[in-house]
Amino acid sequence: MAGPRPLVANASGEIVDLPGLRAAARAGDDLFALDPADLVPLPEASELLFLPARTPWAFDGEKRAAQDDSLAVAAFLPPGWTALALSAFRREPGAPLLPLYAYTAVCWHRGRICAAARRVDDDPKHDPQAFSRDEVKRRVTAWKRRLPENRLVRHHGERCALEWGCPNAQNLFLGRFEAPIALARSCNAACLGCISEQPAGTVPSPQTRLDFKPTLDEILELAVPHLERAPRAMVSFGQGCEGEPLLEAERIEQAIRAIRARTRRGSLHLNTNGSRPDALARLADAGLDSVRVSTNGACEETYAPYYRPRTYRFADVVESLRVARARGLFTSLNLLSFPGISDRADEAESLLELARETGLGMIQWRCLNVDPDWYMELYAGRPRAPRLGMRALLERIRQAAPNLRFGYFNPPADELASGA
Ligand code: SF4
Repeated sequence: MAGPRPLVANASGEIVDLPGLRAAARAGDDLFALDPADLVPLPEASELLFLPARTPWAFDGEKRAAQDDSLAVAAFLPPGWTALALSAFRREPGAPLLPLYAYTAVCWHRGRICAAARRVDDDPKHDPQAFSRDEVKRRVTAWKRRLPENRLVRHHGERCALEWGCPNAQNLFLGRFEAPIALARSCNAACLGCISEQPAGTVPSPQTRLDFKPTLDEILELAVPHLERAPRAMVSFGQGCEGEPLLEAERIEQAIRAIRARTRRGSLHLNTNGSRPDALARLADAGLDSVRVSTNGACEETYAPYYRPRTYRFADVVESLRVARARGLFTSLNLLSFPGISDRADEAESLLELARETGLGMIQWRCLNVDPDWYMELYAGRPRAPRLGMRALLERIRQAAPNLRFGYFNPPADELASGA
């Protein structure tokens, strides 16, 4: 059989292909034969994951066939890539929830492992080969010696850079690109797949929230030298190791004003859930350059079940994008995409409408990191429009909104101004 072959883990824990069968993939609850047009050679630095208590599906001719003596396998893609289809498996009784990763479909095709994926950003700032752990460790030690009282140095150095391997935190200590500043301990949402806080009995959160409120001095000691010296310098408020930064808007506003009183170099950015348009407007007026608003969809019906917002509605998220654009900020959507939900025809039209209505500058096509079955339970029984497929979705948006940038990373404001 010439089509893509299934790739599974056998009883000995080896990854093998299954000649004579056709690889399957999944989008939402739909199961289908993997389309060769979706495939790329497995991106370098992807991780192959074994999925516990999950039996892989394959196709035997037109018939789907569970591979009972095997475990399903998936790829976790490196930054800059987005998934077009997910690993197809049957969840066995008692299966634990999968940890917070995205489970991209993989197969064996034309003599190599392939994944259903597309590269959406070729900015090298998170390329794994550009990081040396020893060098980061040396720099963190030097920063701690220089600023022994600064808790943000310890938090971003010891935890984010060295324990969790956050590329932005590592870049802070390597003196380049986008550097994080975390501030918020709480959040006004309760996302199913929150990476900084999970209720007991669900999945481990890969990071934990910072447990102190940084002082203005602690922020300035990190932010100002970075902005003054780093190539493609950018400081971002709103990180994976915190809650919602707009809940600390007052402190961020003070920080922005104080930073800009010391240096005009580099850009100031906010990653947020966009819940407080009024607070965002104040930050824009203080000198924020760009904002990235996260969502898993472009309408309330998709957003609310996943984000479980406590004190705001999806309309506030839209208003935040509008307010930011009206004040001259570059706006991005951090679209936590999920094949089978994001690529429905009605979602595509809502996304285009949102982009038009808010003057959106960019979509960052990031994969939603969540157990697919856990996520789909949120939308059980909801009527669904036809599925376009992720590849067709990307093409549809590209054609309908040719000026909308596609990417994965936050672009520095000076590069946007120069059209780079
Ligand atoms: S908005 Fe961010 S911090 Fe808040 S619950 Fe969602 S993922 Fe977690």
